[in-house]
Order: sequence, then C-alpha cells, then structure tokens
Amino acid sequence: MNNKKGKLIVISAPSGAGKSSLIKAIINNNNNIELSISATTRKPREGESNAKDYFFISDEKFNTLKSKDDFVECALVHNYQYGTLRSYINERIDKGINIILDIDVQGFEQIQEASIDNTSIFIIPPSIEELKNRLNIRGLDSQDVIETRLENARHELKYANNFDFRVLNDEFDDALKSLVSIIFDDSSKDIDTEKSTKILQELLS
Ligand code: 5GP
Repeated sequence: MNNKKGKLIVISAPSGAGKSSLIKAIINNNNNIELSISATTRKPREGESNAKDYFFISDEKFNTLKSKDDFVECALVHNYQYGTLRSYINERIDKGINIILDIDVQGFEQIQEASIDNTSIFIIPPSIEELKNRLNIRGLDSQDVIETRLENARHELKYANNFDFRVLNDEFDDALKSLVSIIFDDSSKDIDTEKSTKILQELLS
C-alpha cells in the first residue's frame, strides 16, 4: 500500500497571468496530480459545469459551510466568495495524490497562518499591458469586471515575494517547464530569478 501523502501546491497569480492554462497543461501532461475543485458563489460562465470547474453554491450554503469550518481557506474575490473544502483536499492528499490549489493571495495567507504544509508558487505576468491584453482577449468579462481585476492584480503582485517560488510567464513553455521542475523535482531555487525580480519591480512601480 502506498502510504506516501500527496503534496499541496498553492498557485496564485493575478487573473490574466496565464495561470489556468499552465495548470491545465501540468495536469494533462503529468500523472498523480489534480486541481482542487473549489466552492464558489459566482455563477457558472459559459462552458463551465458544476463539480468540474467549481462547486457552484448559494451564499447561504457557502456561509453554512464556513460556519462549520469546512473550508481550509476562503475569501471574497472579485465580489464573490470562494473556498477550498477541507474534506476534499484531505481525501486526495491521504491517497497520495498531489493537489494544486488555484487560489488568491488571501487564501494563501490563511494556509500559511494555519501552518498547513505546502509548496507555493506565484506566477508573474510579463507586463501590465500584456495582462490587460489577455483580459480583453479572453472576452469573458465586462469592462467593469476587467477594471476590478486589474486593480486586484496590482494589489496581488505585492504578495509575490511571500511565496516559495516565482515563475515568470512570458514564454508559456518555459514557465511550464519551471513549474513542473518545482513541483516534481523538489527544485529548491528560484527559476530565472533575476529576470522575474526585474519584471516584478517594474509591475509594482
Ligand atoms: P475565476 O472566477 O476567474 O474562476 O477565479 C477568480 C479568482 O478566484 C482566481 O484568482 C482564483 O485563483 C481565485 N479562487 C478560485 N478558487 C478559490 C478558492 O477556493 N479560494 C480562494 N481564496 N481563491 C480562489
């Protein structure tokens, strides 16, 4: 029997940094790794389905789960509630499955405060302009929502240095390689530190 527990990997990034595509590629190209399905009060977007992309639940249900301490972390992101279900991730980790949490920086801070063992990675977008482009191209959200997300992006970038690793997503394949090496090879050094530090400084200035 395999008694080795899975790893908890926290990945955060401002929306539009390319995080979802990178996570999808990691999961599709590797075994024994899954994305945690969070609960949210946001309505499903076109193409999204319940229990696959998120557990789409009401505010009332979310608040009940929260009051029962059923979330390892939860946060209000872009005006909706999101949370990671404790039972969901514990079950995976106990089975030896590595699990990725795609959560915002507030959620990451809660995981840290609770001293839950994790490897944390922050994905840095190549520039604010590129971030804007990606949010516009994605075409999923209205202009108001895009503005809120850009505002949040500037805020989230301030937390990048609290993570174990920072990965710059200017070239998708390079970023993917870095992520895979951090997750599976227990790589202990920052990838491309000089470049990502420089870009992070520019984004924050
Ligand atoms: P979206 O609505 O675009 O799917 O996600 C918006 C943001 O919510 C993303 O930055 C994502 O990382 C964050 N998010 C998704 N699930 C959770 C969660 O369970 N907890 C926290 N704290 N953030 C989450």
